Amino acid sequence: APVVVAIDGPSGSGKSTVSRAVAARLGLSFLDTGAMYRAMTWWMLANDVDVDDPEAVAIACTKPVIVSGTDAAGPTITVDGKDVSGPIRGPEVTAKVSAVSAVPAVRTQLVELQRSCAEVAERGIVAEGRDMGTVVFPAATVKVFLTASEAARAERRAAELRAKGVDEATITAMAADLARRDAADSSRETAPLTQAEDAVLVDTSALTLEQVIDRIGSLVEE
Ligand code: C5P
Repeated sequence: APVVVAIDGPSGSGKSTVSRAVAARLGLSFLDTGAMYRAMTWWMLANDVDVDDPEAVAIACTKPVIVSGTDAAGPTITVDGKDVSGPIRGPEVTAKVSAVSAVPAVRTQLVELQRSCAEVAERGIVAEGRDMGTVVFPAATVKVFLTASEAARAERRAAELRAKGVDEATITAMAADLARRDAADSSRETAPLTQAEDAVLVDTSALTLEQVIDRIGSLVEE
């Protein structure tokens, strides 16, 4: 059976960078499932759906056509054929994505899409998100739960934003938003962020990116 590497963890744990690098190193496809929830949220906002109304979100969520390109060298995401890779990282989408992703109908829709991406991946896939090991790929070859201390996560995020030229006030506001989002993702009823029983916990606080990639790579090769 093709390899499935399921990587879950909170925002700022280094998940995206790590998952993409592991996929590139092992020659596997890469799936950023957070980008799908963000794309769904972007479409809702663009179409004036009241994202704080779970019923309205549930009714609307079958309409957008979301397509994820799973090449680790250059992942892509489109909604109804439009490239949304830029706008889905903006503050509007980031502020509302937890509300949209808590709606069960949204999850049913996107989980199906995620599984079909894995089915067509030739050599296998590295999938990252919040419920990869618990819900989407319960039989994954390897499950990793990535964490980092609050301080390490905040510091990493701030460094990324500073490198992009973002001002300090915005960095502080985004840190608060991140904490709120993690609390919401961990406490929701459907598929809350939690470590799968059979997942390996990797704390990245004191590790370099190279060390984390080596660790996960060796778990897959075991
Ligand atoms: O990983 P990222 O921060 O881009 O994810 C954005 C949001 O999408 C998360 O805060 C969470 O609400 C949602 N998400 C989810 N399940 C996943 C991946 C992301 O609910 N598997």
